[in-house]
Amino acid sequence: MSEPVLAEIYDLHSHTTASDGRLTPEQLVHRAVEMRIHTLAITDHDTTAGIGAAQTEIDRAGLPLRLIAGVEISTLWENHEIHIVGLGIDKDHPAMVAFLAEQAERRLQRARMIAERLEKARIPGAWEGALRFAQGGMITRGHFARFLVEAGRATEPAKVFKHYLARGKIGYVPPQWCTIEQAIDVIHHSGGQAVVAHPGRYDLSAKWLKRLLSHFALAGGEAMEVAQCQQAPNERTQLASWAKQFGLLASQGSDFHQPTPWIELGRKLWLPAGVTPVWQRWTSPEETKERAV
Ligand code: AMP
Ligand code: MN
Ligand code: MN
Ligand code: MN
Repeated sequence: MSEPVLAEIYDLHSHTTASDGRLTPEQLVHRAVEMRIHTLAITDHDTTAGIGAAQTEIDRAGLPLRLIAGVEISTLWENHEIHIVGLGIDKDHPAMVAFLAEQAERRLQRARMIAERLEKARIPGAWEGALRFAQGGMITRGHFARFLVEAGRATEPAKVFKHYLARGKIGYVPPQWCTIEQAIDVIHHSGGQAVVAHPGRYDLSAKWLKRLLSHFALAGGEAMEVAQCQQAPNERTQLASWAKQFGLLASQGSDFHQPTPWIELGRKLWLPAGVTPVWQRWTSPEETKERAV
């Protein structure tokens, strides 16, 4: 059975206003229930700030939803920005708290430099603009993109990235993220499993992608995302075969940031036969208790 219809739906990659998502944690958990998700991981960029409010709302409203505490960590590997998701972490573990404080500082520094570069290119106000869109959440290039759209520089964020924020463009600043090993390490210290996020989105050749997965598995990482809502038909099968080849568990997630016609919580999320789901060991009552927030 490859596409279960009535099975429990897991969505293990999503964002809130704690980073660059558009829905508050409260809005997100309600939407997840509407989309029949039964297990949702909130995985904001380098922050866990949305998780507490999400769980509080689940409890307050009595929602039939299990929340997994997660995070999406930006790393640098061979000069590529690779995102590592942590699932089932203890968000209050001192090692994680200290680590995310460092990542936050790196993000602020990079954001200041992006704003300076834009200022020099005679685009003033980017710092204030991006901060305004971040609304106190973790700052990302997504917030600069929204500011630049507002400033009339492009019609949509994707175009802003292409012309201003992508590598080699005027607002690009080479980031100083941590290594993959450091991300795996802090995820493990805080009791979680490490997952390579959206392997198909790094613009890597098959050879380099396999090199990445091999490196990640050797460094002790557990899983990789195999299913997302927007994939070429053969991509999922290919990723599933690499998961097996490198001994990695399989995860799935929408990477939901906001409602769009293409991306929705839980949409098209199922795993090809033959892979082992990352949640396989979450089902015993003790594990469930441990993993729940
Ligand atoms: P950062 O982690 O600060 O580099 O920001 C990356 C975020 O920007 C991603 O998580 C996406 O939400 C967003 N993003 C990246 N590339 C694009 C793109 N081409 N179009 C729209 N949003 C993008
Ligand atoms: Mn994002
Ligand atoms: Mn990502
Ligand atoms: Mn993401």
